[in-house]
Amino acid sequence: MCMTAMLPPLMLPKPPSSPFYQQVYKKTDGEWHAQKSKDGSSRIARPKKRMQRCSLVSPKLIGWTNISAEVILKEKDDVVERKMAESGVEPGGKYQTKECQSRNKIAIVVPLRNRTEHLKVFLRYMHPFLQRQQLDYAIIVAEQTEGSLFNRGALMNVGFKEAQLLDNFQCFFFHDVDNLPENDGNPYTCPEDGKPRHMTYSLSRWNNYKPFPGWYFGGVTALTANDFQKINGFSNVYWGWGGEDDDLLRRIKFHKMTPTRALDGFPSLIAMARYKTLTHKKAEPSPIRHKLLREYTKRLKSDGLKDLAYQRLALELKPLYTRVLVELQQPSKGKAPARS
Ligand code: UDP
Ligand code: MN
Repeated sequence: MCMTAMLPPLMLPKPPSSPFYQQVYKKTDGEWHAQKSKDGSSRIARPKKRMQRCSLVSPKLIGWTNISAEVILKEKDDVVERKMAESGVEPGGKYQTKECQSRNKIAIVVPLRNRTEHLKVFLRYMHPFLQRQQLDYAIIVAEQTEGSLFNRGALMNVGFKEAQLLDNFQCFFFHDVDNLPENDGNPYTCPEDGKPRHMTYSLSRWNNYKPFPGWYFGGVTALTANDFQKINGFSNVYWGWGGEDDDLLRRIKFHKMTPTRALDGFPSLIAMARYKTLTHKKAEPSPIRHKLLREYTKRLKSDGLKDLAYQRLALELKPLYTRVLVELQQPSKGKAPARS
């Protein structure tokens, strides 16, 4: 089934995405409804006075952080959710900077299946991190159903498409759930058009923070919505572990875009873009990933956002994130390859 032809209707009315909407919408019986004034007409609030633009570097940065997954995992969900709501996180994991007008409106897309603990740590850590950078953002988790081989690239494409149905984002951060930026000076600002940014300079798990060579484009990557559309998103054909991130870099270069790294041009700061990895069992690499990669140009035009095929099974505004549960399909072939 082709996604563009068979897009199921959005089950939720537009959520309150800004203080403006908050005044117009109200949550009753778990759903958002337009508020009515006493005379029965819809209550249309005036948008607030325009705030000043945020400064180029946020005054709220604290630098290096100490990430302890053990500590976070002991925290109670309802307490964390209440604290986050108090800090301004809206249902669906949306946030709008309060003190100034943010320069960036970003979507964080996280591919997921069976990583409940990682997701808990990720959300608890990333919300305050992004808020300290004075960003407007939403966290969108694209979750794959059981039974089939995991497909990271297709899930990123799902996250991109679904996010665009919800709001207007300038750029997208495609983000593994187990990569946590250790210093909030690592900028989650939008890259320029034509300059996709690889965020993961180094990882705790990989050679004790040895900088990654230039061919690596996995972990966390940032592209403007325009650029991601131009390259037709990730490839959808990489079922199982590996290849889709290398394919993305090839697509970027094929379209004559310049891959960049966070803080390159600032050699004394570049190590701030390092990440802590949460531990997990290593996945079995896909045996056909090299072959698929060699043939990437043959597929460029169709394989990606254009032929993405999936069925959306749920769209939920969770307190700390938007959850999109999908059953992925193979374009034109139907059912996704099963896990052995
Ligand atoms: N992932 C997941 N469940 C899986 C496999 C992967 O949620 O069963 C997601 C998760 O966001 C993870 C990312 O895909 O961080 C990359 O996969 P993985 O961690 O296996 O890759 P590696 O650590 O080897 O780079
Ligand atoms: Mn991992």
